[in-house]
Amino acid sequence: MPTDEPGPPHGTDGVRVECPRCPTPVAEVGDGHWSCPDHGIVVPLWRPMSSSYEQFAAHLQRVGPFPTFLPWPLGPGWSVSDFAAVVSDGDATRATMACVAGTSQLDGPVDVMVISEEPGTGFGARVAGLTTPDEAELLDPGHEVGDGPPPVRVRVDQYPVGLWPVSVSTSPGEWDRSVLAGEAGGRWLWLVLRPASAILLLRDDWILRDISATGPQLVALPFGGPAPAW
Ligand SMILES: [Zn+2]
Repeated sequence: MPTDEPGPPHGTDGVRVECPRCPTPVAEVGDGHWSCPDHGIVVPLWRPMSSSYEQFAAHLQRVGPFPTFLPWPLGPGWSVSDFAAVVSDGDATRATMACVAGTSQLDGPVDVMVISEEPGTGFGARVAGLTTPDEAELLDPGHEVGDGPPPVRVRVDQYPVGLWPVSVSTSPGEWDRSVLAGEAGGRWLWLVLRPASAILLLRDDWILRDISATGPQLVALPFGGPAPAW
């Protein structure tokens, strides 16, 4: 509903704003620009405090036609536990992330995070906890992606997409996860699975569905559960 009151756009209640490349809070510096102490002017990351249908609807409105991918269908007991977007008001979206959480017999609690991003955004690398051996930041997956036939394939909507493992062994702050990356629709597609052994859940018939086109079925999606740290 339109109002005359000035205020933040797109329903930003319960959403925090961060740098897409690091956890540092950003400051609004006018004209809808946000500045990170380390990275200067950045396209901001919008991250809801908790996962809910209302927040997800606001997320989809925020990102417009940019895809937000979820493994589909969700298994029994699984829920959408987290999501985020990198976008400036009025500009094209740079990246989205959505996470589903559940349990598997072998792994116990599992998080599956799916990131779609434009090259050079650096958000997927942040979520994956990646840095280079000299601790420089990575903006994109490394040379491993596209090297040889993909060991894993998933389907993004109807299309097979190859994914390659991304090495996490050189990254500090070791936490237990597997990272895969590939390319879908001209954008990087990242999968971050925790614990690392959850990679064994991946099969060729895994479907990642763009939820932005789902519509009323969204109401039936379970939201909530423990959000992953990243
Ligand atoms: Zn930053």
